[in-house]
Amino acid sequence: MQLFAFQPRRRLPLGEWATDRAPFFCMPDFPILHGPDRPDLLRHEILADIFEATAARVPHKTALIFGERHLTYAELNDAADRVAHRLIEAGVGAGDMVGLWHPRGIELLVLQLGIAKTGAAWLPFDADVPTDRIAVCLDDASAKALLISELSAQAVQAQSGVSAQILTASELLSALPEGTALRRREGALPEHTAYVIYTSGSTGKPKGIAITQRSISHFLRSENARLGVREDDKVYQGFSVAFDMSFEEIWISYLVGATLWIAPKEIAGDPEALPRALIENDVTVLHAVPTLLALFAQDVPGLRIINLGGEMCPQALVDKWATPARQMFNTYGPTEATVSASLAELKAGEPVTIGEALPNYGLLVIEVIDPDSIVNGVVPPLKILPFGETGELCITGPGVAAGYLGRPDLTAEKFLPNPWARNEQEARLYRTGDLARVENGTQMQCLGRADDQVKIRGFRVELGEIEAVLAEQPGVGTTAVLLRKEGDIDQLVAFYVPSGATPPEVKALRAGLAEKLPPYMVPARFEALPAMPRLQSGKIDRKVLKSQPLSAAAPAEGSDTPETPAEEVLFAALEKLFPGQPIRRELDFFSDLGGHSLFAARITSTL
Ligand code: AMP
Repeated sequence: MQLFAFQPRRRLPLGEWATDRAPFFCMPDFPILHGPDRPDLLRHEILADIFEATAARVPHKTALIFGERHLTYAELNDAADRVAHRLIEAGVGAGDMVGLWHPRGIELLVLQLGIAKTGAAWLPFDADVPTDRIAVCLDDASAKALLISELSAQAVQAQSGVSAQILTASELLSALPEGTALRRREGALPEHTAYVIYTSGSTGKPKGIAITQRSISHFLRSENARLGVREDDKVYQGFSVAFDMSFEEIWISYLVGATLWIAPKEIAGDPEALPRALIENDVTVLHAVPTLLALFAQDVPGLRIINLGGEMCPQALVDKWATPARQMFNTYGPTEATVSASLAELKAGEPVTIGEALPNYGLLVIEVIDPDSIVNGVVPPLKILPFGETGELCITGPGVAAGYLGRPDLTAEKFLPNPWARNEQEARLYRTGDLARVENGTQMQCLGRADDQVKIRGFRVELGEIEAVLAEQPGVGTTAVLLRKEGDIDQLVAFYVPSGATPPEVKALRAGLAEKLPPYMVPARFEALPAMPRLQSGKIDRKVLKSQPLSAAAPAEGSDTPETPAEEVLFAALEKLFPGQPIRRELDFFSDLGGHSLFAARITSTL
């Protein structure tokens, strides 16, 4: 049922928004959850301005800690100024894109800040992403340069198709000759891109989302108006800079002058060592995906803020971690709307929601659009739904990106003119693809996806992209990839019909996919089928595949027999982690069994 007739408002030329507000009072209110109006959070600034204001205000405050190394805000500022100088000398300036691929640590954050100080945008890559994918993204974004560690330089230089100039960290970070007059950014504006993040694309190629300096600078102020991270906080820095939740850690800290404690790689993925390290280092703020927090082997009493986001938050986690002494939040949002658009404060025993819109953001639910009704990128008229009804969640406000780089068709489908806009900031809306409804007239409830996008350990994955790469492998015909729960573990399962008489070896498939896709997108299981189950319409019947018994599910046929008490424990733990898969001594945990860092952490903790 629809309470309010669809009535698009007259499109206004820019500048007329204010005068249009008067009649609004006599119209029925549209069912939109608006965050508080806070024009003071929208400033004429870029990320570098925000950092530099803090460095000038608290120069002696510790900004970064990594192992034994401490850097004050003034030291970080100086180091990043040197990087910016060298980048400007190399021809980088406002409006340019610069790839960033470096292991975690202080150098990475100095390089990132150095790019920010030129007014250019960074395009970050995860440590373990294949060079093939890096080349595709750099080319797609027409990146001018790639900043990397010496270790990776050779691998990238050997990769064909990288035309960006390669600059190594040691060149950029080394001292400048005495008396060098530092070159500073020129002409950087809030409209320039601040960063580009590539996410999985359903058609087989990742898609780039460009976020402006205006959107991200506003986001930092808007979200922190609710989170309340302070100068005296010590914030855990655990996210890869290729994931936009890293802005909550790094740049909200820079905004307020907090200290970032950067975890060494071996601690960041270890559920026993990490909480211990957070306690020992007096960390007070943790931003995390629920999957990571769920693995923590003990409480961290000193945490005064826990901010969860990136995927559905289980109620049990809140009941375990929410205490009267700490604030716990659930923040929600897609990369396309600049990190987060809504926030809920979580309390033990109360239902988990994604809460209310952040200041200056708006949330609304529209009737789900049948994908077949979108022809040549033209989307049928939107129908807003009353509170309580389930539909597709849309986001408005200054965080909504311009669209996907070089993908006008996809941009036109997902980023639409907003018929219910009250001002210029709300002129467009982003269709998230998430199903949602408003509960009690105030709280948004996220109910899953309306499409094939999934989240695996917080990583966003379009199943279509894996299917396309799998279909390119020799000996593979039709493909379908699903996220299935095996035991209590989410796993990607790839089904395929062999194109020849002999199905390809799983090892070869895994290696072929690992060349093109990040490790979290390589399925744990590969299942050959004689034919794909299909609906009458001819589409693949995913429901059947969801419950299809997996071929190796027979009691782990082909497993080696444990021969010592230690092996008995090890085999039992591996069988639990990889249900139905044969466990043999010669198999590799990662490349053969499909293990990943969280599995490694889990098995370490079990053993
Ligand atoms: P990303 O662009 O990687 O941040 O992924 C965005 C998607 O992750 C959203 O569209 C949701 O499907 C999901 N997501 C993010 N945060 C939450 C949350 N707090 N609760 C439920 N789903 C979430």
